Amino acid sequence: MAQDKLYRLPTSVIPQRYELKLTPDLTRWTFAGQEKISVTITEPARDILLNAAELELHRVSLKHADGKIVQGRAILDPENERAKLSFAEILPAGRAELLIEFSGILNDKLHGFYRSTYKRADGQDQPLASTQFESTDARRAFPCWDEPALKAVFQVTLVVDEKLTAISNARIIRETHLDGTGKKEVIFADSIKMSTYLVAFIVGEFEATEAVSAGGAPLRVYAVPGKKLLTRFALDIGKASLDYFSRYYDIPYPGDKLDLIAIPDFASGAMENLGAITFRETALLVDVEKATRAELERVADVVSHENAHMWFGDLVTMKWWNGLWLNEAFATFMEMLAVDAWRPDWRRWDSFTISRAAAMQVDGLKSTRPIEFPVERPEEAAGMFDVLTYEKGASVLRMLEQYLGADAFRDGIRVYLKRHQYGNAETTDLWDALENSTAQPVRTLMDSWIFQPGYPLITVEKHGRGVRLSQQIFRYLQDGSISDQRWYVPIFLRAGSKSGIIEQTLLLTEQERTVEFEESPEWVVVNAGGHGFYRVGYSHQLLDALKGSLDQLSSVEKFGLVNDTWAATLAGLVGPSDYLSLVDLMGEERDLNIWATIIGSCHQLERILAEDQCARLSQRVRMLVGPAVERFGWSTKDGERELESQLRGDLIAVLGTLGEEQNCQQRARELFARYEKAPNAIDRNIVPALVAIVAHTGTISDYENFYRRFKDATTPQEETRFLFALANFREPELIERTLDLAINGEVRTQNAPYLFRGVLLNRKARAKAWSFMKAHWEEMLRQYPDNSISRMCEGIVGLVTPELEKEVREFFAAHPVKQGSKQLEQHLERLQVAVACQKRWTDFLRG
Ligand SMILES: [Zn+2]
Repeated sequence: MAQDKLYRLPTSVIPQRYELKLTPDLTRWTFAGQEKISVTITEPARDILLNAAELELHRVSLKHADGKIVQGRAILDPENERAKLSFAEILPAGRAELLIEFSGILNDKLHGFYRSTYKRADGQDQPLASTQFESTDARRAFPCWDEPALKAVFQVTLVVDEKLTAISNARIIRETHLDGTGKKEVIFADSIKMSTYLVAFIVGEFEATEAVSAGGAPLRVYAVPGKKLLTRFALDIGKASLDYFSRYYDIPYPGDKLDLIAIPDFASGAMENLGAITFRETALLVDVEKATRAELERVADVVSHENAHMWFGDLVTMKWWNGLWLNEAFATFMEMLAVDAWRPDWRRWDSFTISRAAAMQVDGLKSTRPIEFPVERPEEAAGMFDVLTYEKGASVLRMLEQYLGADAFRDGIRVYLKRHQYGNAETTDLWDALENSTAQPVRTLMDSWIFQPGYPLITVEKHGRGVRLSQQIFRYLQDGSISDQRWYVPIFLRAGSKSGIIEQTLLLTEQERTVEFEESPEWVVVNAGGHGFYRVGYSHQLLDALKGSLDQLSSVEKFGLVNDTWAATLAGLVGPSDYLSLVDLMGEERDLNIWATIIGSCHQLERILAEDQCARLSQRVRMLVGPAVERFGWSTKDGERELESQLRGDLIAVLGTLGEEQNCQQRARELFARYEKAPNAIDRNIVPALVAIVAHTGTISDYENFYRRFKDATTPQEETRFLFALANFREPELIERTLDLAINGEVRTQNAPYLFRGVLLNRKARAKAWSFMKAHWEEMLRQYPDNSISRMCEGIVGLVTPELEKEVREFFAAHPVKQGSKQLEQHLERLQVAVACQKRWTDFLRG
């Protein structure tokens, strides 16, 4: 265990309060810092070990409680991101103050204390500085005990140019003008006791909204000049969700103010710094009149998610990074609750099925991992920000909530938060609280989902007057081995018989079990309501019965049927014709998510099929989607739900791209031309479809138009819409331009890796993109944020030929990725699944 110790700081000296003063220089991209840390020395020591990275430590001293000052010196250990402060004499136990003067750089890696730029209306580039500390980058901004359990109070002071805005976690208590320097000193109040990864400071030109009162605190939204008119929506959902959470948790908002700040360069979606949440612009700023429903929903989701963290994550924090899932899964779960309460017409829990399905896709691989696993090194923590932590985590919490009942679940959460507020907790503490308030075997149940990788396939067949259920791990790749992995599976049953509907909930703990009904059922739905994190495999008899009773199923249940069958097809458990015959029954559907899973499977097939078979796929898409587009028409109908408007766009997009339907392409081009003249004349929810079709059929002049629109966009949504559409052009010289664009510095590094991923997934471009990636790999690693590399590499799932698969494997064996190696392994296995599937579909289509 000596090995672990390397990554954990000794606890002989513990921080209580940091007084931190920073002077950033936005022209030289450096900063100077001073800190006074009140510490408790628990046992006499000669050295103090703490974290520091890319910092220079100039002066170190320690002041004892009796006023005596001892000088120290710092020895940096860059490899372990630490500093050892050595003193000439033994430091006795007790209280003391540690004083450190230091300096650092405002880096361009979008972590630590980093720089960002934006263009002002006059075309001038303007600088700003912001922070991103999670997981372990506070140490790049100031020497600290950079571990989540070493909570302390932070009092920040920022010295900045007079015209700039300075923001930190707490409210400003004083601003002093420093005569003759052109600078001011901005002094912030003490924060609550919190972890270092939640500290934030932001400096730049910003415009703020008026404050509204939310959860008892003033709430504001900040944006760089010119974008203030895009803040209204975020302010609305910010207030609604903060109010919602203070009621749900039954604890007031823990900070003294809350600022939501849009940062032009941002590596992830957003960051839950207490009182000063930072966002990438697309996740916060939006034009309510122009944005699609999906774009508005994204802002609502992210804002709610971060607000949920103010309690779950910030007020109560995981002890160590292995507990990260609890933070993220819970915030994801709460985000759904809050958005669902705010806009019930969006049916947020229905669309959550798409996220659940995405998690099941990864979790059905052999290279998956348990939600929680031991974490030693900080890089391992950084690799945990994935679909298993967020979406699988949130799915199993939702399954538990539905099994226990929403009120009982909420009561347990309240107990947990009150018990651990201002402190740290582990997964087991949550189960304690829930067991206390429900008297259910929560721990045993949840351990089977949290500490085991994968999920079960529940097989169902008729048995006497009831059904026989059995569980077996679901895997896409069958290797003939039999697993004895078992889960505690909440089974939600609904069955139809001659005398009515039977509903029953039970916990399947054994491998196999029979359930008797009073009367023989005509049809049975397992996973009624769709909350279970498992797949269902019905016997032929039961499947046929369900196909004949589809009107008895909710949209979510039909979604499950389609999605599970598609997964079974990919796994080779059922044949292509079984899937296609089911899909044919869905042609009349009006549900967005059912169509999304069908359209998703068509896109997957397009990557899998050989060139000469793509025409067959297009034809099938036209047969299936053509009549639906006909029914929906091209413009909004009176009284139509917004979800249906979005579906119309999705259907048009697939018909005009995958379906290659020429009338549809023609019409889309005409409407796009009209949209360019009069944006408001076109329903905003079909605009993404028009853009997709114009790119798919695009010429050089379309490309140049899109490029210009990306450059001149007035909203973040428009900017990314036209940027990412460049990946879908199919002419060879246009593909080359996009590849070049991904590394020539014109595209922010927060977006460039995702633009490149899009090109890898473009069938016409993938071979070129792959060669390009091999040739420019080192450049990409140098330019792009660390967390984006494995996400960019998801594009390799499009390289579906046995030869390319082999090449990809060899390349990554020689070039391992530093962060997210697990995700890379999963992309490689998904590619293997696709290659295996290729043969089955080829045989089927040729046969
Ligand atoms: Zn989060």
